[in-house]
Amino acid sequence: MKIDKDKPWTWIRYKTGMCENCYGSCCTMPVEVRAEDLVRLEVATQDEVDRSVKKMAKRLIKDGVVASFRDSTGLFTLTSRPNGDCLFLHEKTRLCTKYQQRPDVCRKFPEIGPKPGFCPKLPKLTQ
Ligand code: SF4
Repeated sequence: MKIDKDKPWTWIRYKTGMCENCYGSCCTMPVEVRAEDLVRLEVATQDEVDRSVKKMAKRLIKDGVVASFRDSTGLFTLTSRPNGDCLFLHEKTRLCTKYQQRPDVCRKFPEIGPKPGFCPKLPKLTQ
């Protein structure tokens, strides 16, 4: 069965080392982050968070870093490129350009995600 990131039932069980030579399909899915992730990513400051998260969200949307913010959950969705890539995914290497500062949700994938323990791995060279 062909792996499709939008169809978790086609994903394969994650094993250590599987990220090697991967296309980075997990970085082409919507990324939900919290204010502390945005501070760690250095796209926002703790000062902004302390003053007003709503104002910060407005600024980040205007700057094109964040696509949306839900006040009820405190979750922001990072902006994606037109092809679905995360803003921080390197187009050619298919690696995260902010790896050391990446959001919690990225650190925890695939233990958390649409199909915990499974991964939408696609080889880097096929796309
Ligand atoms: S922040 Fe980095 S690890 Fe997380 S989705 Fe974007 S490119 Fe991938």
